[in-house]
Amino acid sequence: MRVLVIGSGGREHALAWKIAASPLLTRLYAAPGNPGIGRDAELVKLDIADHAAVAAFCKDNAIDLVVVGPEGPLVAGIADDLRGEGIRVFGPSKRAARLEGSKGFTKDLCAKYDIPTAAYGRFADLASAKAYVEKVGAPIVIKADGLAAGKGVTIAMTLDEALAALDACFDGAFGAAGAEVVVEEFLTGEEASFFCLCDGTTALPFGTAQDHKRVGDGDVGPNTGGMGAYSPAPVMTSEMVERTMREIIEPTMRGMAELGAPFAGVLFAGLMITDQGPKLIEYNTRFGDPECQVLMMRLKDDLLVLLNAAVDGQLAHTSIRWRDEAALTVVMAARGYPGTPEKGSVIRGLEEAASDGAEIFHAGTAINGGALVANGGRVLNVTATGATVGEAQQRAYAALDRIDWPQGFCRRDIGWQAVAREKAGA
Ligand code: AMP
Repeated sequence: MRVLVIGSGGREHALAWKIAASPLLTRLYAAPGNPGIGRDAELVKLDIADHAAVAAFCKDNAIDLVVVGPEGPLVAGIADDLRGEGIRVFGPSKRAARLEGSKGFTKDLCAKYDIPTAAYGRFADLASAKAYVEKVGAPIVIKADGLAAGKGVTIAMTLDEALAALDACFDGAFGAAGAEVVVEEFLTGEEASFFCLCDGTTALPFGTAQDHKRVGDGDVGPNTGGMGAYSPAPVMTSEMVERTMREIIEPTMRGMAELGAPFAGVLFAGLMITDQGPKLIEYNTRFGDPECQVLMMRLKDDLLVLLNAAVDGQLAHTSIRWRDEAALTVVMAARGYPGTPEKGSVIRGLEEAASDGAEIFHAGTAINGGALVANGGRVLNVTATGATVGEAQQRAYAALDRIDWPQGFCRRDIGWQAVAREKAGA
């Protein structure tokens, strides 16, 4: 098979790395990719927002499957535009990607199909949003409706914070994404990420993970795209997975089919495991980054076979095998992140770092004058497996400590919840 991966982050590097191991593969391309992906795939300079250009490339190069990594192109309809040209795509249609592209859409779906989630209100004007917030009181959660690169959510512990967040949203802090807001009940519990491969009808569980959104050790400081992750998530017991499938995922699949927007691709449920069981915080319609990196390390089966089964509507006849090990990834970011990261510093020692079985996935890297340099906020994902999360954690940090990049930083406590649990159980 000739395959094109769309995207340029650590998630896409992990996907390309796993696809490159498939015996079905004859040629792998990535657009635009990054230097790490360039080890597994041929990099193509394509403007991925120009769907006609992507389609033309696929036709010229007889691409058998396009795998779309990030949400932006999916919400913009790349899957529909390529399918319209007869090209096979792994990823949801624009209408199905509303599960990520519009928080209000998802909340309304939950209400209609009785899917457990936080109580909410949906508002397109400041006055009625404020009236609702004043009625419900704090703590309360304010969310821009559309895609805001993970920045559109405010957990307001006081009424003043909530009102300020509403002002910011309607003042255009998130552009068009904030023209509408969802105001939500504040949920408490343990968070977990749950993934399914979907083919429009069937959803097949595809692993669990937990990530670390705050920039600093101990979960402090501003939110980021994610500073690390591990899989599996201990809180997702088989009973919790079973409830999540029955109460959340299956009604979503049914609902989307009834709306004429059957969901095919990766359905990524952000869950809060509350006293009453799993509640949906949000859907994403693609793999998480960096959750994908740990899932790919644990996946025993051929990813291409699974993606083909999803595209061909064959998941009801498919099973997925995982390695017994846990996996953990630590994000190395450039100084300044999640604000403005410093670019251009030289990174050395990646080969030595990976010498003990760790995989180092690239995110914001570039080649400058023959040297590998930082070229974004999140730069490297140092990933390892182990018999326990604790062992995977030790291996990942041992690899990371061999990297020579003084301008990079990381959290030192990725996996702390799971490691604490393991220690308590030991
Ligand atoms: P989202 O972008 O919707 O995933 O929100 C980002 C983060 O905000 C989540 O990972 C949660 O930690 C937190 N969050 C979102 N919604 C709620 C809620 N209703 N209650 C408590 N925390 C929430």
